[in-house]
Amino acid sequence: MDLQKTKIVCTIGPSSESLDTLIDLIKSGMNVARINLSHGSEEDHIKMISNIRKASEKMNSSIPILADLPGPKYRVGTIDNNFLELKVNEELSFECSDSKDNKNLIIWPPGIHNDVKVGAILLIDDGAVELEVIEIKNSLIRTKVNLSGKISSNKAVVARGFPSMLDYFTEETISAINFVISNDIDYIGLSYVRNAEDIVKVKKQLKNKNLKIISKIELQTALDNLDEIIQNSDSIMVARGDLGVHLPISQVPAAQKFIISSCNKKGKEVITATQMLESMTENPQPTRAESTDVHNAVLDGSDAIMLSGETSIGKYPNRAVEFMREISSIAENDIDHNDLRSKRVSYLDSKNSNQIDELIAHGAANIAEQLNAKLIVAFTESGSTAARVAAYRPSQPVIAISPDKNAGINLGLRWGVNTIRVNSFDHIEKMFSYSEKLVQKENLASSGDTIVVVAGLPIGFKGNTNLIRVISIN
Ligand code: PEP
Repeated sequence: MDLQKTKIVCTIGPSSESLDTLIDLIKSGMNVARINLSHGSEEDHIKMISNIRKASEKMNSSIPILADLPGPKYRVGTIDNNFLELKVNEELSFECSDSKDNKNLIIWPPGIHNDVKVGAILLIDDGAVELEVIEIKNSLIRTKVNLSGKISSNKAVVARGFPSMLDYFTEETISAINFVISNDIDYIGLSYVRNAEDIVKVKKQLKNKNLKIISKIELQTALDNLDEIIQNSDSIMVARGDLGVHLPISQVPAAQKFIISSCNKKGKEVITATQMLESMTENPQPTRAESTDVHNAVLDGSDAIMLSGETSIGKYPNRAVEFMREISSIAENDIDHNDLRSKRVSYLDSKNSNQIDELIAHGAANIAEQLNAKLIVAFTESGSTAARVAAYRPSQPVIAISPDKNAGINLGLRWGVNTIRVNSFDHIEKMFSYSEKLVQKENLASSGDTIVVVAGLPIGFKGNTNLIRVISIN
């Protein structure tokens, strides 16, 4: 059994959507497959979902599918021949209403002319091109190019310092939510979340569909409301692409550390995303700086790290995953587990939390550390017992054992946890002997080693963590 601690999320696109490549990505360490509903057609997405499911089945692994909603983003419309080269000082006008009678490029959904003022800077494609607003006449914005470059159809447009007044549910977002409801998706990524209210509204729209909510932190407003966003989400993404457009790029590292640390304290999963191995979109190996960035994101306390263009449109999708895996495995040896654990404990202490399940989970992590145990085996129904233990960041891997197929999906992003599906046990002694046999069969522990087992009784009830047993392997 190949235990993986830091989880890897891969964005799927033209470079990786084939069945063979998806199988290779799983072999190399992909744990979650992400499809970005802002790009591609419904047919493309349906084909991707089908191939991801086939690849997971073939590899006998449960790979959760994350679908990102577009959110309330402005975008440039369709550009003739897809590309437009812009030179410094050149002028370019945009129509910002839904008027059909217009010769200019459009920015949609309608409304950005109401958000901005003359002098505002418009950043296109994560800031690759910079325009300055020189005139606003009704719904027509005239701009001058400050930073030259190429723009292509459908790229995001951001007016830094002028928050978008769009409603969360743009037409594009509503049709993406409908797609998520009627297709086989496990996690939903909420782009451009501003506050808890946005999340609550999306949950309502999802009706009874049970999905993990991943809120993407990309806006200053989201940073300001981080606590309530974490509280209302299952997981958080440090979406550094948009974050570096809405904040000066120099502030992204501090924001990343702040978001990760806030999630670690609250025991919520956190993904660090975007440009991690960016140069691998074109090149067969990353830069030294990218390798260091991945290493540092693991040390910061990321549960998962994400590849975007590297795997969706890049030339070397599989090599990018291999590098992610290699760099993160080395970084894992340098993690300060005690420091991460003490942050979680101090946070719970500050809340006077005396929950039995938390005390047991903390106890299991501490005992495993003190006894230098080989690993922690967590019997779990939904996955919550294993997640709870892993949130204390033990240096030992956690093996989650569950009869529920959703447990593997629920734990897909959780640092340190690998899930095995089994038939239900009818007696606690059978769980202990199964653990002993499993670790020996998989060469994870041998005679003289110690493992820590954690479980909830009575068997079969969700969300109960109340038992620790230390087993010395004979
Ligand atoms: C990001 O902005 O970093 C991000 C992950 O979002 P998207 O890929 O939708 O731009």
